[in-house]
Amino acid sequence: MSKSISLLGSTGSIGRQALEVSEVLGLRLAALTANRSVELLEEQCRKFHPALAVCMDGSAAGTLKIKLADTGTKVLSGMEGLLEAVMMEETDTVLTAVMGMVGLRPTLAALKQGKRVALANKETMVCAGELVMAAAKQYGGEIIPVDSEHSALFQCLRCSEDRGEVKRLILTASGGPFFGKTREELEEVTVSDALKHPNWSMGAKITVDSATMMNKGLEVIEAMRLYEMPLEKISVVIHRESIIHSLVEYCDNAILAQLGAPDMRLPIQYALTYPARTHGPARELDLLQCPALTFLPPDEENFPCLALAKRAAQTGGTATAILNGANEVAVANFLAGKIGFMDISRRVEKALSAVPVVQDPTLEDILSADAAARQAAI
Ligand code: MG
Repeated sequence: MSKSISLLGSTGSIGRQALEVSEVLGLRLAALTANRSVELLEEQCRKFHPALAVCMDGSAAGTLKIKLADTGTKVLSGMEGLLEAVMMEETDTVLTAVMGMVGLRPTLAALKQGKRVALANKETMVCAGELVMAAAKQYGGEIIPVDSEHSALFQCLRCSEDRGEVKRLILTASGGPFFGKTREELEEVTVSDALKHPNWSMGAKITVDSATMMNKGLEVIEAMRLYEMPLEKISVVIHRESIIHSLVEYCDNAILAQLGAPDMRLPIQYALTYPARTHGPARELDLLQCPALTFLPPDEENFPCLALAKRAAQTGGTATAILNGANEVAVANFLAGKIGFMDISRRVEKALSAVPVVQDPTLEDILSADAAARQAAI
């Protein structure tokens, strides 16, 4: 069980819920980091008294330093600050709730110190999953997933000690706000339509990823890396109700599932209390009030991002970093109103065709593939 946490991305949706969980569990926050939300970060520092606060943005860090001058909290900026937050002596767990590739170096640094990483930053596993898993094995760090599907798989996988007994990992997907729409209809959807997720309240980038189904594609790759499973052993099923968070099918055809109200505080908490379970703030699921549970196949025709992610996973090497980098740029451009919804998959496809793939990549290969993909997706 975690005692002292460095929380990377404390002002985002997962970060704020992680603080709620930490408060209920009475956990110490050693460090809080944000991009540039100075006011909220100041408020959080005054409440949780971390030894260190970090803003990625240099001028935001300057403002925060002045605001926190009367407190005992030290303020740093940028990647150096993030790495210092991760490597603090008192930190036993690093919760990475930052968005995108920026989480990669801090994750590797935490694992190299044998710390627990509560991983809510799927892009890290997508781009550099093999490097991350190798670092965890070599230095004795552990990775506990926070993503609800991967937490569900993690919980269901505890029932067997032999990975060879696993026949299939089944990821559930809500289908997002546009499930059932045709390609013509999808060409016309707006940013505000895309931000209306039916079941989960999340940040803008992941909400758009859910609408395109890229989120599920990234999660397929994340599951391959975390559980060291080939693509053929992972499937996706649309489950509109988001009550079953994922399932594991074993070789005897038993299927184990994890159910719960759609509430991220539960997987966040489990990543911090594992292997124990404790009382916490997550909502209860009342089975008698629960809607009928339905299952449908995903529509890869009208939602090409899932197929693109599988293609990148099959290619391997830096292909998944290219997929991710291109998607980050395309989603940012969609949110900025510069491109249409269906252009997201077109930009990703363009980058996947344009950027050469390196197999068995080093960290540098991954970072340059990411940079090339971002260029190619503009
Ligand atoms: Mg998820």
